[in-house]
Amino acid sequence: MYHLENNQVAVGFVIHLNYENPYISPFDEFQRFKTHPKVRPYFEGGKRLVYGSRAINEGGIQSVPKLVFPGGALIGCSAGFVNVPRIKGSHNAIKTGMMAAEAAFASLKGGSQGHDELTAYPEAYKKSWVFKDLWKVRNVKPALKWGLWLGSFYGGIEMWANSLGLGKLLPWTLRHKKADFETLKLAKDCQPIAYPKPDGVVSFDKLSSVFLSNTNHEEDQPSHLKLKDPSIPIAVNLPLYAEPAQRYCPAGVYEVVEDAGGQRFQINAQNCVHCKTCDIKDPSQNIVWTVPEGGGGPNYPNM
Ligand SMILES: Cc1cc2nc3c(=O)[nH]c(=O)nc-3n(C[C@H](O)[C@H](O)[C@H](O)COP(=O)(O)OP(=O)(O)OC[C@H]3O[C@@H](n4cnc5c(N)ncnc54)[C@H](O)[C@@H]3O)c2cc1C
Ligand code: SF4
Repeated sequence: MYHLENNQVAVGFVIHLNYENPYISPFDEFQRFKTHPKVRPYFEGGKRLVYGSRAINEGGIQSVPKLVFPGGALIGCSAGFVNVPRIKGSHNAIKTGMMAAEAAFASLKGGSQGHDELTAYPEAYKKSWVFKDLWKVRNVKPALKWGLWLGSFYGGIEMWANSLGLGKLLPWTLRHKKADFETLKLAKDCQPIAYPKPDGVVSFDKLSSVFLSNTNHEEDQPSHLKLKDPSIPIAVNLPLYAEPAQRYCPAGVYEVVEDAGGQRFQINAQNCVHCKTCDIKDPSQNIVWTVPEGGGGPNYPNM
């Protein structure tokens, strides 16, 4: 929670996308969080200004992909440079942008006509404090596979050892157990979650929240959310996982509707706030997020 000027408060709530219960709704968890007696007073009597959502790339240093390709480079969070336990990535985004720009400048100065691979950028990254920053926290997220308490305890010890300069005594790098889309259990083995109804004071519904994201897409364009196989949501995801897209999407884009023709998977693509969760979490890996036409998407004025 951040206390800003003009008596404004910004609150963020993070759900690890390797959660197991398909009935979890990150949006509703967030609403419920605001009703906690220690949190509620900050929002009671206030006015909602903006709402948004975004996936945080939690893979850490062991998940950073190849950073350059002909004519381009991955910088900031597109490459996964966020420091996961601190939820801080602005510094690494700025620094990697600077390193890529310096590599581009040196390449052009050396006579390049463009479209080359800026190999100087990944080399600079490996020697930079960005790499050191991420190296120190690389095992914190994977350690959570041992459970919240043991994993957090281990992560804390490792971060403490690194802060004392003892990191060389802990040279190993833990692997992530599974990809996020592989972690859902079957719906029949999980308990549905009865979330409290929004009270309209500190907790709200999805659609009025999405309205505050100012998201906008030109209506007469093909959906930017593509299904590899349109039958999977109803034929596979619904019976096995109670179609979790209805809940993990924080913008209410995906609905299972019932009409004369039976059950149907509806995609309200115009509501999408571009968080990319569907592309990551769909257990069948059937949803592909593509760039919409016309620069549409959320328009966050002060987030
Ligand atoms: C809840 C939360 C709290 C955080 N708190 C902190 C903090 O306190 N301190 C900190 O340092 N970091 C924090 N972070 C992390 C930080 O926000 C990111 O690491 C940082 O913003 C990454 O910067 P970026 O420029 O790489 O990516 P982003 O800030 O994500 O910027 C990417 C931009 O590209 C735009 N975009 C995406 N696709 C397209 C497209 N196809 N065409 C055109 N534009 C496109 C997006 O709309 C976005 O504006 C937080 C993150 C979250 C989610
Ligand atoms: S459709 Fe996908 S990217 Fe868009 S808001 Fe929903 S989960 Fe996020």
